[in-house]
Amino acid sequence: CAKNRGKAQYVIFDSEMHIQALKQLQLENDFRHALRYTEFVVYYQPIVNLKTGGLVGFEALVRWQHPTQGLLPPGSFINFAEETGLIVPLDSWVMYDACRQLREWRSHFPQQEHLRISINLSARDLGHPQLLEDMQDVLTEMQLPPHCLALELTESLLIENIDSTLRFLAQAKAAGIHISIDDFGTGYSSLSYLHQLPVDALKIDRSFVIPMQAERNQEIASTIITLSRQLGLRTIAEGVETNLQRQWLLNLGCTFGQGHFFGEALPASEIPALLCRETLMDEDFEMS
Ligand code: C2E
Ligand code: MG
Ligand code: MG
Ligand code: MG
Repeated sequence: CAKNRGKAQYVIFDSEMHIQALKQLQLENDFRHALRYTEFVVYYQPIVNLKTGGLVGFEALVRWQHPTQGLLPPGSFINFAEETGLIVPLDSWVMYDACRQLREWRSHFPQQEHLRISINLSARDLGHPQLLEDMQDVLTEMQLPPHCLALELTESLLIENIDSTLRFLAQAKAAGIHISIDDFGTGYSSLSYLHQLPVDALKIDRSFVIPMQAERNQEIASTIITLSRQLGLRTIAEGVETNLQRQWLLNLGCTFGQGHFFGEALPASEIPALLCRETLMDEDFEMS
């Protein structure tokens, strides 16, 4: 009868919820364990000058070396980390590790001291009052000039808490840290606030770069580049996969880019070989 069926449904629902809750709990446990025992690794993707191919820096992209599931991409845990607030200690660790790494590379390759490292921030990070002070402490510890660090923030993050975000950005900017708007063109772009933001660069989301065949995307990319130039900002294209895209972006006035055409994100151990090649190329250039 209805009464019994109701009860049975209740039991099934309850046990599904129970399984979900257990999974969530397990993930949270694993994540805390991973933070504690440093199972996270930072990969570095080259950011280059589109015209010369010369290296201008790296974007730090986190991965999780999971003990049973292998190397996990950020897409599989960033949302969870944001929901639970565990993104704050994670990003703080990424910032520290990336700066430590950059210091090491600079000491081995003094000619490459112009290189900048970009880190990604989430909305939760900005709510953390110590954030800027922590960054400045790390820069001091690593003897890095503040312009070596760039922060990538998405449009939606910027608008979420516009007042506190503006305050943070103004302070970071005054401290000499660079700021980029990430995935530009995918958020609720309110152009009216853009000129008020103390940002240095716009990063064109790869969805406008990859399907270059689609005329609409070309128009969007072209509009973003023009806008960025008019605001006096640098433009960095994401997802540059072919030489054709590189040329097309250059023609539109975009100066910098990253993507599989230049190199995917690499573990830190593979970066010195790249810096070695870069240094040799610079020397060749100086001699000629
Ligand atoms: P994002 O900041 O927009 O980073 C660019 C993403 O595009 C990276 O994915 C990169 O590997 C990928 N990519 C680069 N070039 C190409 C290309 O030519 N083709 C294609 N198809 N993809 C390319 P990844 O590493 O999986 O990171 C995904 C997102 O996770 C990032 O997007 C960023 O929003 C977030 N994320 C990564 N690391 C961190 C972190 O340390 N903290 C925070 N809060 N978020 C992070
Ligand atoms: Mg980014
Ligand atoms: Mg991006
Ligand atoms: Mg993206």
